Amino acid sequence: MTHMLYPTTNLTATEQLVITHGEGVYVYDNQGRQYLEGMSGLWCTALGYGNEEVVETAARQMRTLSYSHLFGGKTHPAAMELADKLSAMVPMADARVFLGNSGSDANDTQVKLLRYYFNAIGKPEKYKIISRERAYHGVTVAAASLTGLAPNHTHFSLPFDALGVLRTGAPHFYRDGLPGETEEQFANRRADELEALILAEGPETIAAFIAEPISGAGGVIVPPAGYFEKVQALLRKYDILMWDDEVICGFGRTGADFGATSLGIQPQLMSLAKALSSAYMPVSAALITGDMYDVMVEPSAQVGIFGHGYTYGGHPVACAVASKVLEIYQREQLFERARVMGLYMQQKLQAFADHPLVGEVRGMGMIAALELVANKQTRQAFNGNAVGAYCQLRCQEHGLIVRAMGGNSVALCPPLVISEAQVDELVEKLGRALDETL
Ligand code: PLP
Repeated sequence: MTHMLYPTTNLTATEQLVITHGEGVYVYDNQGRQYLEGMSGLWCTALGYGNEEVVETAARQMRTLSYSHLFGGKTHPAAMELADKLSAMVPMADARVFLGNSGSDANDTQVKLLRYYFNAIGKPEKYKIISRERAYHGVTVAAASLTGLAPNHTHFSLPFDALGVLRTGAPHFYRDGLPGETEEQFANRRADELEALILAEGPETIAAFIAEPISGAGGVIVPPAGYFEKVQALLRKYDILMWDDEVICGFGRTGADFGATSLGIQPQLMSLAKALSSAYMPVSAALITGDMYDVMVEPSAQVGIFGHGYTYGGHPVACAVASKVLEIYQREQLFERARVMGLYMQQKLQAFADHPLVGEVRGMGMIAALELVANKQTRQAFNGNAVGAYCQLRCQEHGLIVRAMGGNSVALCPPLVISEAQVDELVEKLGRALDETL
């Protein structure tokens, strides 16, 4: 027992698994056991482990400039380079970039940028944010308020009301579709509910709608075709900004550069983290469009400073590493590779659709989940989360790391550099674990 307090567990938790090193798509524990990292850590180690080029870049930057901050416009080349690279690569015209350290803090930054923006343009009453059930946007107080998962709220009395967080339904057809309803009808129903909420609250009070292209921690929820088209038509109609949380989906995960590209999203705000540096360093980015920036510039001199910033936001080592990782993604054409390997992985995983324990196999690109159910025909869920947790443990025994989530979904999100043979290994080990979970 060490003196650690562990996240997302109760305080009786002790050391479950001590990971000591990693190489490629594998990590190793303190007993020398090898595990295929089927979750890229927490959806983040896209390049895999031990990339020497990245390591060298970090060491070089530490020698050159180990720290400098960005407060008040003091800056450094690594941050400027990263911001310009991101601005050029996202599907947002002339995007402006605010650098941070985690997905949660990027989302907190966006909450404040939204307030600042609407204050600057003289619409302070436009502050509410619509989020969705089953969404995960992080754990800081604002990000947790946006999150739509009960375990992240219990005990905390989060300030939903003060923040103006509104909740609408998730596009989870398998779980929330009604008997006899088609996917299209379901997407229409979700859009109708969204419109009713907007009208009930008053569109003039609503700043933004936040969504992950594919919800990750909520159970890898791939929306039905046309869902985002319908949602965005409403956002345009009622003058509400589209805030795209790409913390998991960004940088190749869905088989394209961004989840926005795969799902047809045209964002005005974008949150990035995780694979932005392939988790070699903590780094995040909150982006807004050039249009938003342009209309804020002049009034900002009157409304006062944007009083927000993190000591480590734009850390030179994190920025240098992230720029290097983006260069490697491009040079190795890893987003295209993720598309091709993603098709292979999804097709292999479909073999589990017939498994008696598996209600649904879902995913896109290099992200997927199997939803384990008590009854395949009726879709009856298991009580509690024990079955998914057991399957996760069986996988671990076989040298495969997966992640069981609420609702007994087992998530997969392997590094983008995984080979076909390693996908086969993942599927074989998962199959054995599923059979033992029966
Ligand atoms: N947004 C999404 C979509 C996430 O999946 C996560 C983390 O899993 C976050 C935000 C929060 O990121 P972090 O854990 O780096 O604070």
